[in-house]
Amino acid sequence: MSYTYDNLIIGGGPAGYTAALYAARAGLDTAVLEKMSAGGQMGLTDIIDNYPGFPEGVDGFTLGMNMQLQAERFGAKTLFEDVVGVDFTDPAVKKVMTAYNTYTARTVIIATGANPRELGLPNERALTGKGVHYCAHCDGRFYKGKTVAVVGGGNSAVSDALYLSRVTEKVYVIHRRDTLRATKIYHEPLMKAENVEFIWDSAVTEILSDGRVTGVKVKNLKDGSEREVAFSGLFVSIGRKPATEFLGNALELDSYGYIVADESTRTSVPGVFAVGDVRTKALRQVVTAVADGATAIHYTEEFLHK
Ligand SMILES: Cc1cc2nc3c(=O)[nH]c(=O)nc-3n(C[C@H](O)[C@H](O)[C@H](O)COP(=O)(O)OP(=O)(O)OC[C@H]3O[C@@H](n4cnc5c(N)ncnc54)[C@H](O)[C@@H]3O)c2cc1C
Repeated sequence: MSYTYDNLIIGGGPAGYTAALYAARAGLDTAVLEKMSAGGQMGLTDIIDNYPGFPEGVDGFTLGMNMQLQAERFGAKTLFEDVVGVDFTDPAVKKVMTAYNTYTARTVIIATGANPRELGLPNERALTGKGVHYCAHCDGRFYKGKTVAVVGGGNSAVSDALYLSRVTEKVYVIHRRDTLRATKIYHEPLMKAENVEFIWDSAVTEILSDGRVTGVKVKNLKDGSEREVAFSGLFVSIGRKPATEFLGNALELDSYGYIVADESTRTSVPGVFAVGDVRTKALRQVVTAVADGATAIHYTEEFLHK
């Protein structure tokens, strides 16, 4: 019979590794299943300024690596595998499937975060990495001395545009509305940046390319007119979608695909918890993700000791 963990954690971002730290310190036999590398979305940002304890800020990659090392110091394991399915039908033993293995555990914590939303244009995927990007902080530096465009108007788009205005020659911001949705505090520095040009009330209808991105066609949503805008890097920043496809209908999701769970992190399945960006919550940040990780172990222990 296969080995059954006390607790398995799917996803090795800040929520997952905090859960692993608390689980290991509570004496639970726990492992993190991570499909890429520790740290999750934190690895996409060069500086995190609002995580307490780092007066000068901290780079996301280092913070993620340290969270992994800290959890592993207390005995948590990391298994680098992509989870492709789950089976929660047996209340006592939950199954977690990867491409190579089926793992079993008495409790499961889902900490798979969220992925960037795509524009949904026909050649978008083919051009990903050839001028289409979803992470300004990762790929912006390839465009030193060049012109780029950011699509979106929320906090991420504004933060991306601001970062790109520092490392590239010129930045277009293409937004469907006539004002930014981003928090007011972000507006002023972007409005002041001399190399940022806004294209308001507009949607990208086509990505132009010669094998690499050469620009886009945009449609003005108020008057219907179309124009071409030339640049070499397109940064799509229109929000994120929760990484929950692998769950099928194993537990309750909301209409956007987020796992329905309150501050207790309990889901619709007893013994299965959801932490961090993947669950329904008001604020998706590192500090709220780590808080979830700790809370989930509190309720995991309660479940195991019943
Ligand atoms: C560019 C950028 C800048 C940001 N800046 C800040 C900031 O300054 N301050 C702040 O507080 N927050 C910031 N955030 C938000 C913050 O990074 C997230 O809120 C936080 O990382 C969420 O943590 P998480 O553990 O819930 O999920 P994630 O960080 O998304 O981690 C999820 C992990 O699960 C893994 N995974 C997903 N699916 C599977 C699967 N099927 N099998 C195995 N593994 C899987 C992923 O590879 C990933 O490692 C930023 C985000 C971005 C993108």
